[in-house]
Amino acid sequence: MSDPILSVEGLQVNYGRVEAVRGISFEVPEGALVTLVGANGAGKTSVLNAVSGLVRPRQGVIKFKGQDITKWPAHRLVKAGLVQVPEGREVLGTLTVAENLSLGGWHRGSTLHANVAKVYERFPVLFERRKLQAGALSGGEQQMLSIARALIAEPEVLLLDEPSMGLAPKIVDEVFAVIEEIRQTGTTVVLVEQNARRALAAADFGYVLETGEVSHSGPAHELLADEKVIEAYLGLD
Ligand code: ATP
Repeated sequence: MSDPILSVEGLQVNYGRVEAVRGISFEVPEGALVTLVGANGAGKTSVLNAVSGLVRPRQGVIKFKGQDITKWPAHRLVKAGLVQVPEGREVLGTLTVAENLSLGGWHRGSTLHANVAKVYERFPVLFERRKLQAGALSGGEQQMLSIARALIAEPEVLLLDEPSMGLAPKIVDEVFAVIEEIRQTGTTVVLVEQNARRALAAADFGYVLETGEVSHSGPAHELLADEKVIEAYLGLD
């Protein structure tokens, strides 16, 4: 098998005395959709933020395309093709939709315009609303904007932090449809979700996090069929 496009080995993240991530390892094959699931506070966001350079790990090695990127700052990682869609969308509410999108491609120079045109084609609602302030969009539209802004950076690996959070079920369906489309274009996706059942159904591989450690991992369909995982993390419905 070829080397994974992204690998994390022995990752630890502390906030003062809080040990948020306590030695997590995982691998992401190129083109795959890998999900990290687990309860609130399990450490999912901390893992993603360490990978994308937003928090400095206490220990561990993160490799992207064979290079040790553990100490790379976020902006360098974006240029290299590792782009995060943050928890809570983080669109800039007083800027227009178009301005938010341009920010996503700050480093793309001459291709920015073409990339914006491409995402308008993919997200017609953003084209319609391009002159509106991002803060005036619905939660679902803001999530689409946040994803679209990341796509403009032309990621090879897209990191998505809780994209379904706080959205109505119908909008959650739309978000998952977009994620599916993104991976079909060949982009590798790492998806952090509390909605474990939904995320595992969409993923190739899954890692279940529990208090900063991996409690279960494997092909996503096997985790979905694993009674221990279902009982502990997926509820009985
Ligand atoms: P959530 O779904 O709430 O985002 P999570 O699984 O992503 O949960 P993290 O946000 O990574 O988990 O948090 C892991 C642990 O680290 C939690 O106990 C949390 O309270 C703690 N934590 C996270 N960020 C900080 C911080 N900036 N300062 C102190 N403690 C933090």
